[in-house]
This record gives sequence, structure tokens and C-alpha cells, in this order.
Amino acid sequence: MATLIDGKRISQEIKDELKAKVEALKEQGKEICLAVIQVGNDPASTVYVGNKKKACAYIGIKSLAYELPEETKEDELLELIKKLNDDDSVHGILVQLPLPKHMDEDKVIDTISPAKDVDGFHVQSVGALSIGRPGFVSCTPAGIIQLLKRSNIEIEGKECVVIGRSNIVGKPMSMLLLRENGTVTVCHSRTKNLKEVTKRADILVAAIGKPKFIDASYVKEGATVIDVGIHRQENGKLCGDVDFESVEPIAGAITPVPGGVGPMTIAMLMNNCVEAGERA
Ligand code: NAD
Repeated sequence: MATLIDGKRISQEIKDELKAKVEALKEQGKEICLAVIQVGNDPASTVYVGNKKKACAYIGIKSLAYELPEETKEDELLELIKKLNDDDSVHGILVQLPLPKHMDEDKVIDTISPAKDVDGFHVQSVGALSIGRPGFVSCTPAGIIQLLKRSNIEIEGKECVVIGRSNIVGKPMSMLLLRENGTVTVCHSRTKNLKEVTKRADILVAAIGKPKFIDASYVKEGATVIDVGIHRQENGKLCGDVDFESVEPIAGAITPVPGGVGPMTIAMLMNNCVEAGERA
């Protein structure tokens, strides 16, 4: 039986630490502020934005909500971002993705000042991560490092296998594990003999986007298994990229879905906001 890595508890611990920090900053006269921009009304985005606002309220971060109509012109969005870049009272800027099709996401993200890029998606933030300079790191992989550290799972010298090479999860995850001195292999849709590679992993991170893809046949006995996937099943319940029932009996430690990686993403976003405020 694997140890359950409790993302709900660990994310709460981080949020409480941040709450105390934000209170101390307030006493020094500094109020941390996050601007959240949503364009259009995609229902999933509305839920994510709502959760971010709730987390801000809990921690004591001021949140400014910009809800722009679907037909907003790209230039108008860029103007708003530039205005927020110049506003010293705003410390973090988050543009909820995906954006409507008529907008160039890369151009929009790269308009955010890297000093306020709390999502860590700006090309400069990604570059800083890859060469070990300070900068904001994508929240989901940053949260996974916290899950491992706060569960006392050593990364240094360990075989770490990341399945997935997306810009927001797989790639930054591999860079972070490397920064922690793991021996890192990245697998993707063109990887041959995937099982042979994943069975070497002491730490296996699944960010594939396919429900219950990883069963026990992909996992070495005693490995730590981190499940990034989130899928709604036909029965209404959530599941991950890992087949929990199959893997849990042989893993050393495992994240559940829900309650594993998911809650860490928002906690790390809040952490980035506080850091942005402290650095400003
Ligand atoms: P993505 O679709 O951008 O990337 C998936 C990656 O998996 C690709 O790099 C692809 O090469 C790889 N892949 C696909 N099929 C494969 C196969 N058969 N074998 C090996 N590799 C394969 O997805 P993403 O944005 O990285 O997200 C991955 C999952 O994590 C999704 O389920 C997503 O919903 C979830 N997610 C969760 C959080 C969170 O906060 N918990 C955050 C972001 C994403």
C-alpha cells in the first residue's frame, strides 16, 4: 500500500503560511494585489477564475477582476495589460487561458511584464528557469516539487521520468526536477517502449491528458507516482492519468485525484503573487 500524498493538506499549509506573510506585509503598509483577466465566458475558465479569487480572499490578497466580452479586440486586451504593467499597486497579472481564437496567446502572454508574470508562462520566465536564473515558474510543476519536498521524498540522484512535454507542465516539470538534481527523462507521444522507460522511474510524473493511462505495468515497485491529469468520468467522478486502483498497491507513494496535484496549482499561484509583491 502506497503512502497517500495529500495535496489538500499541503496546499492548505502553504496557503496558511502565505496568509501570515500577507498580514505581515499589510502591517508594513504593503497590500498584495493580483489582476485576473478573463475574456469571454467559457464555463471552465469561470470556475478556475472563481477559485483563484476565493484563494486570494482567503490569503488576504486583493484581487481585481477584469471580465471582458468574447469580442474584445486583441489590441484592447494588450492595452489593459500595459496599463496594469505600469500600475505599481498591481503585483501579479494573470490572463486566463484559453483566449478566444482571434487572439494570439503568445503575444498576449509576452505583453505581461515578467516581474508580474505569476503564471510563469512568459518566454523570459521560461528562459530564466532553463538557465537557472530567478523568475516565476509554472504553478502546477512548482506545486509538484512542493508536494515531494513536504512529503520528504528525495529528488537528488533519483531516476525521474516525466510523461508529457507540454509548455505548462511537462517541460517546466523536467527543468525543475533537474534543478533538484534528479536524473530526468522526458517521454512523449513519440516515445518508443514507454513502459521500459517508466519502469526505471523512482519518481514518475504523468501529465499525458489520457484517463487512467498508467496502470501498474508502467510502474516500478515502490516508486513515487505523481498524477497531473484531471478527467471527468461518465459516472461524474474525477480521475487522473493514472489508474489509481491498479497502481496504488505497488507504488511507494501516490497522489490521489482529486486532492493531489490539483489544489497545489492555486497555492503556488498565490505563492508567486506574494513573491511578486515582496520583490516589487
Ligand atoms: P497536453 O495535452 O498539452 O500534453 C500532453 C502530453 O502528453 C504531450 O506532450 C504528449 O506528447 C504526451 N502524450 C500524449 N499521449 C501520449 C502517449 N500515448 N504516450 C506518451 N506521452 C503521451 O496536456 P497538459 O496541459 O500538459 O496536461 C496534462 C494533463 O494534466 C491533462 O489531463 C490536464 O487536464 C492536466 N492538468 C492538470 C493541472 C492541475 O492543476 N492539476 C494543470 C494543468 C494540466
